[in-house]
Amino acid sequence: MSRATHALIHLDALRHNLDCVRQRAARARVMAVVKADGYGHGLERVAHALAGADAFGVAALEDAQRLRDAGFAQRIVLLSGFDESDDLPLLRRLGADTVVHHPSQLAMLAQAGPGPRIRCWLKLDSGMHRLGLPLRDAAAAYARLRELPAVDPEIVLMTHFARSDEFDEGATAEQIAAFAQACAGLPAPRSLANSAAVLGWPDAHADWVRPGGALYGISVVAGRSGSDFGLRPAMSLGTRLIAVNGFAAGEAIGYGGSFVCPRPMRIGVAAIGYGDGYPRHVASGTPVLVDGASAAIIGRVSMDLMCIDITDLPKADVGSAVLLWGPGLPVERIAAAAGTIGYELTCSITRRVRFIESVSIDDHAEHRVAAR
Ligand SMILES: *Cc1c(COP(=O)(O)O)cnc(C)c1O
Repeated sequence: MSRATHALIHLDALRHNLDCVRQRAARARVMAVVKADGYGHGLERVAHALAGADAFGVAALEDAQRLRDAGFAQRIVLLSGFDESDDLPLLRRLGADTVVHHPSQLAMLAQAGPGPRIRCWLKLDSGMHRLGLPLRDAAAAYARLRELPAVDPEIVLMTHFARSDEFDEGATAEQIAAFAQACAGLPAPRSLANSAAVLGWPDAHADWVRPGGALYGISVVAGRSGSDFGLRPAMSLGTRLIAVNGFAAGEAIGYGGSFVCPRPMRIGVAAIGYGDGYPRHVASGTPVLVDGASAAIIGRVSMDLMCIDITDLPKADVGSAVLLWGPGLPVERIAAAAGTIGYELTCSITRRVRFIESVSIDDHAEHRVAAR
């Protein structure tokens, strides 16, 4: 029998979350960010569920190629832009949009030969200080792009936030104001908002929003999970117990003997570990659900297995379902225990985990096994 470890992808949740974004940013068009294999959920699968989006955002030209190969005709935006002039023929063939964030890209576009016009998103640095042209160059760079024969004259002006997940922090309001001032008078659509800004900064919605995490039901807002905003988790990471054993007080469990039973305990062994992408460094006590009831990981997570305290769950036994994250156990909670954010956890699921698609979140009969 194949290993029980699986990632169930809730297609309905993806669609629901897109609807939520549309309700919150009703006047904006939506670029669904599907980089990093759809935040680990599977690029093509996610794109099919989110086919109602107005555009897709990817990080790599290969992802744009995959989306076109799968038949998607939507706008696809290369969020980090192209790296070299050799990328331009493929960009044109794919009909993908590119972000332009650096003078070197302007120079390459100026040298581009004849061919279809390329749609550009001019990225300005309003305070994050990662990618983007300085705000003072906004008008000049816009004018320069407009006059290049290789560039489509409809250019979107964009910027990215550093701290939009901190709703009571002034930095985002400052970025919004600085961007507005730098772009004043330029007759172009604007795009500022990532997920956290869709949720918490309505002034930033503008013409295009660019949610990623929110579409997968994940919040990056400290102390709040996606469900606090009406979002539904798009991934359930699950497995089963493959052994249940009893131990006396004083016996040590697992590698390093780091957990010593304080009382007689029943320990369930679940078929999942860091080889599947579950973080190894979570502390004893990190929650899981066993047949829907709360339980806790004890000892060290190993490569293929982890130990779970089921002393107080007398009905739990070999074969019991174990949920590592998903509905009822937000991935944000596990991320907090692992000192990271939910995005990193869903992106880290490894290839040996079986992906299953669930059409309806309520109807577990409709699962179908999907190739990765
Ligand atoms: C990844 C990314 C997003 C999406 O961010 P989320 O926090 O997942 O919503 C938006 N814009 C840009 C430029 C990005 O790189």
